[in-house]
Amino acid sequence: MTSTTTLSLDDCVKADAVDPLREFRREFAIPEGVLYFDGNSLGARPIAAQECAARVIGDEWGNGLVRSWNEAGWFDLPVRLGDKLAPLLGAGEGEVVVTDSTSINLFKALASALSIAAAQDPSRKVIVSERDNFPTDLYIAEGIISLLDQGYELRLIDQPGDLTEAVGPDTAVVMLSHVNYRTGNLYAMTEVTAAVQERGALMIWDLAHSAGAVTVDLSGADADFAVGCTYKYLNGGPGSPAFIWVNRRHQNTGIQPLSGWWGHARPFAMESAYEPGAGIRRFLSGTQPITSLSLVECGLDVMLKADMADIRSKSLALADLFINLVEERCAAYGLELITPRAHERRGSHVSFVHPEGYSIMKALIARGVIGDYREPGVLRFGITPLYLGYADVWNAVDVLRDILENKSWDRPEFRERDAVT
Ligand SMILES: *Cc1c(COP(=O)(O)O)cnc(C)c1O
Repeated sequence: MTSTTTLSLDDCVKADAVDPLREFRREFAIPEGVLYFDGNSLGARPIAAQECAARVIGDEWGNGLVRSWNEAGWFDLPVRLGDKLAPLLGAGEGEVVVTDSTSINLFKALASALSIAAAQDPSRKVIVSERDNFPTDLYIAEGIISLLDQGYELRLIDQPGDLTEAVGPDTAVVMLSHVNYRTGNLYAMTEVTAAVQERGALMIWDLAHSAGAVTVDLSGADADFAVGCTYKYLNGGPGSPAFIWVNRRHQNTGIQPLSGWWGHARPFAMESAYEPGAGIRRFLSGTQPITSLSLVECGLDVMLKADMADIRSKSLALADLFINLVEERCAAYGLELITPRAHERRGSHVSFVHPEGYSIMKALIARGVIGDYREPGVLRFGITPLYLGYADVWNAVDVLRDILENKSWDRPEFRERDAVT
């Protein structure tokens, strides 16, 4: 399938019939009448999650009670899941834990990276990031800067191309989202990491929109730290715990500022002084949300049965189809593509800007085409190859075209803002 010919609905149905990932859709619970294009915000529910929840709540909690910390492996769960997730990140065993939220893991990663950078060269006081980064990443950096109160500053670039110029002898850490949450821009991880490290800074990647969406090779890039979500493309469930990856060379050197008992060398010795544990366990803080953490495994189990290369190539083909169909069939209605067209620059969602973007998205959702809205004016469509097909893309664009043509978005109920967009 090339990126230049637009398919008919019939062609799409044929493409679905020979899709090597077509069987995966049956692993997910998607309601009747819904075309789900928001797996980049909350992944669909694996069918197996219900059984898993029943086992954890009914058997492990209900029957096992406190014994389950040992007998059901609850205590080791963050590390065991980290090892299971590692291949999807190009990481090795003992390098990842699934724990806390992305925001909290970023706090730990950034504080740790700053402590390592300061030990090498305390004059480096700049954290470089991107103005269009996901806001929590920037807020966390601001919080650390004010907490440390050591003259650190945040330097924000406006374009991905401005990065190397912004990183210099004053830079301690560079912190970027591998895939931008709004535009879908994808950084070349290996090249960017090398350029940052050549300039003497440490590299932290936020993989929230990358894990399970695009191929990632943290070891190949030899990055320093990474964090990311499990509730997006990894289908772990609403608010499921996030992950943190720490390059082995840093695991025992930096400060882990949330020095709770789960990161202690001997948690159950109940000593009064903190002594950091060795390895990735140091990046745990306190007692884990076991019910939610357990469900992460269902999403991972489905994802690990698929070939990441198949996922990526289908994602690109579906996104090409989406872009082509919108540009061909909705050309008259002023949608502007803000996602890079080049495959090597694009993650796994497609975004268009429209001045009435909010109302249009609400009208789409009312018709069962669920994407989401991000300021300013951005209609965002997540592409999740495990449970979306070619005909789904065709049908979604058909609904979009109808809404635009008939201006059916132009109603008071579609203007009212919800708390979560
Ligand atoms: C979704 C997302 C987050 C979310 O962080 P939480 O702590 O889970 O709320 C963080 N960073 C990026 C880049 C994201 O896309």
